[in-house]
Amino acid sequence: MQAIQFKVGKPTECSNFKPDVVLVQNLLKAAADRLRDPSYDPGEPDGVVGRNTMRAITSFQDRFMHRPDGVISPNGRTIRELADFAGWAIWRKLNLFAFGHDEPAPPARGTKAPPRPEERRGMSKALEIARTAQGCCFPIPMQPMRDMTTGARYFGAPRKDKNGLYRLHGAVDLICPVGTPIFAVADGVVKTKIRHFYRSTGEFAIDHGTFWVRYCEIAMKASRELGLEPGTKVKKGQLIGFIGIMRSSSMLHCEMYSGEATGTLATRAHKKPHTRTVKDAPFNRRRDLIDPTPFLKTWIGNLPVLTQEVKEMAEAAKKSAIKARDAHFARLDAA
Ligand SMILES: [Zn+2]
Repeated sequence: MQAIQFKVGKPTECSNFKPDVVLVQNLLKAAADRLRDPSYDPGEPDGVVGRNTMRAITSFQDRFMHRPDGVISPNGRTIRELADFAGWAIWRKLNLFAFGHDEPAPPARGTKAPPRPEERRGMSKALEIARTAQGCCFPIPMQPMRDMTTGARYFGAPRKDKNGLYRLHGAVDLICPVGTPIFAVADGVVKTKIRHFYRSTGEFAIDHGTFWVRYCEIAMKASRELGLEPGTKVKKGQLIGFIGIMRSSSMLHCEMYSGEATGTLATRAHKKPHTRTVKDAPFNRRRDLIDPTPFLKTWIGNLPVLTQEVKEMAEAAKKSAIKARDAHFARLDAA
């Protein structure tokens, strides 16, 4: 497993595969922030190696190379230095994290390509696999409707309780319409049943091999109908659930864990008292909780593609999620 699949940099020597470039650009940006050196900043990560990205790469290589060559190889020093300087020591521990899940090789000339998921007949609903490119995919088939790094949506956003004390948001919120289908970001094994999360929504977790994702604020009924149970194996891009609804807002609350700790992800056992200041506020999650932002920013270059069948299922999920929301508030009103 490697952080990037192919070489990034000098266009005459590198493939500049878009997901690789987006990852490198995000790493350079993080290094620029952390090291307070704007010369490492490639500008907005757009997946294209232009003049600014080249300047950022060579400027960063200048830190440790006698003669910067503007080429970042999958196993080379620059990508390792980037992961370190970007401050994500965890990436190192994860062996530069699970970016690549090997895709089947393209069929040889003259042979028939395997049928696309929507062309396969008789496929069970839970086996619906979205078409995605190489690498991990984004968990929803669209750009979130609001910036995932601002507002109250970002990882570590302070949350005030009714006593004016703080805890921190342990996830990134991907705002999207109720009923939006959710896809496994990588191959993995389902670890928990779909359980109640907040209001009428649910949550469950998947072990993706070198990291875990906890998918929260999902529509319980429609997601359960997909039949995933603890122990079920899932493939990257597999339909695993649908977005639920809180009161009027809907989102995927996406938590990530390195998998280095054991036990449940969020229980009373992890609860620490909320604090007066944001600085030392707790996440109230298992200790191997990690920031999903850099991963999501990379995976967003790889959106799952919806089939007609999934679109229809999403419509039905939306209706049942709204019904569950209304029933939830009706119960509260009656109490
Ligand atoms: Zn959230």
